[in-house]
Amino acid sequence: MLNVTTSVTRRGFLAGSAGLSLFAGSPLLAATLSFPAWLSAFRRHAKEQGITEATLKRSLDGLQPVPDVLGFDRRQPEFVQSFWRYMRRVNDKRIDEGQRHQRANERVLTQVEAKWGVPAPILMSFWGLETNFGGILGSFHVIPAIATLAWEGRREKLFRGELLAAMQIVQSGVRTPMDLVGSWAGATGQFQFLPSTYRNNAVDFDGDGIPDIWSSLPDAFASAANLLRNNGWRVGEPWGYEVVLLPGFDYGLADGSSSVTLAAWEALGVRRPGGSRLAPARDSAALVLPAGWRGPAFLVFQNYRAIRRWNNSELYAISIGHLADRIAGSGPLTASAPADSDQRLTLVQVREVQTHLNAIGFDCGAPDGKIGPKTKAAVRAYQKSQSLPADGFPTVALLVRLRN
Ligand code: CA
Repeated sequence: MLNVTTSVTRRGFLAGSAGLSLFAGSPLLAATLSFPAWLSAFRRHAKEQGITEATLKRSLDGLQPVPDVLGFDRRQPEFVQSFWRYMRRVNDKRIDEGQRHQRANERVLTQVEAKWGVPAPILMSFWGLETNFGGILGSFHVIPAIATLAWEGRREKLFRGELLAAMQIVQSGVRTPMDLVGSWAGATGQFQFLPSTYRNNAVDFDGDGIPDIWSSLPDAFASAANLLRNNGWRVGEPWGYEVVLLPGFDYGLADGSSSVTLAAWEALGVRRPGGSRLAPARDSAALVLPAGWRGPAFLVFQNYRAIRRWNNSELYAISIGHLADRIAGSGPLTASAPADSDQRLTLVQVREVQTHLNAIGFDCGAPDGKIGPKTKAAVRAYQKSQSLPADGFPTVALLVRLRN
């Protein structure tokens, strides 16, 4: 859903940009500031927040909005992300490289773990998935990218804060505006921190007094570990692990948030792969089924939640945890992809599922093509009414059933 709050000025700028007609078909154009007017207002704000005239000049003079950034921001995925496709990023090449980098950095990684309690394979996993071990740091200049997103208005407050944090990075002298590069959304450095993430979590670990998450690996590893600790990482606990569910298990319990003790999960029919009992743990766990009832099941703990505070995505968190396990020497998942695992719903099809469910009294809210908690609950209730496994996971088969 596009939340278009743009202006004629903005539209004129975009219409003049090669190949971009981002707001075509969007009739609602709310009046807002032109980019230069917006930037002047930001300069005054930044000055009040302690940014010097010299830093403002270096960072903002001659700044223009970046059409590619708006293009990425407006891009709508065609398909719902699927677990098995997403997990292709956990592959033999990345596992090998993770192990190689872990050996090469063993000394500093041991020191980081001693201080923050985050194991080396977890750090290698984040590093591998965020930037392919420093190979892909991003090709956008962070300041113009963030300024474009702040001006564009959909998330102005967030990106205004990030732009101020980027100014503070420049003012500290650790990066110049020209070498502060990252993703189109402003994530930067070995672990793709937003500027405010840098300000709140980056630490110096190589002893030069400057937290440098770009070109110092000790600083980057320590900063990532510090961020995880600040996100609630618990020393010596797993993120989660794969489990199997005994026949007759109530899939409605696997909502990823109901947290009960391992003894209770065992009584409900949860076992380790192979059928053995769950390891005793003082903590309670939640159950997630990222590919529906036919896919793998995971019990997840507090450290899974710490990973999701880094990036609030179920698939991201499981891929981080699983890649870390593989780098540490564990085997692949015991669940395997079904033959039709590439069959994915498009966002258009999800809207169709939602429209059908709404029409027969299972409330999904306004059909938006997104599988949020409300849609999952409606799917689950419908599945129960049809005596289907109630995993809340819409599939092509479910859509076909609804059409009939
Ligand atoms: Ca340093």
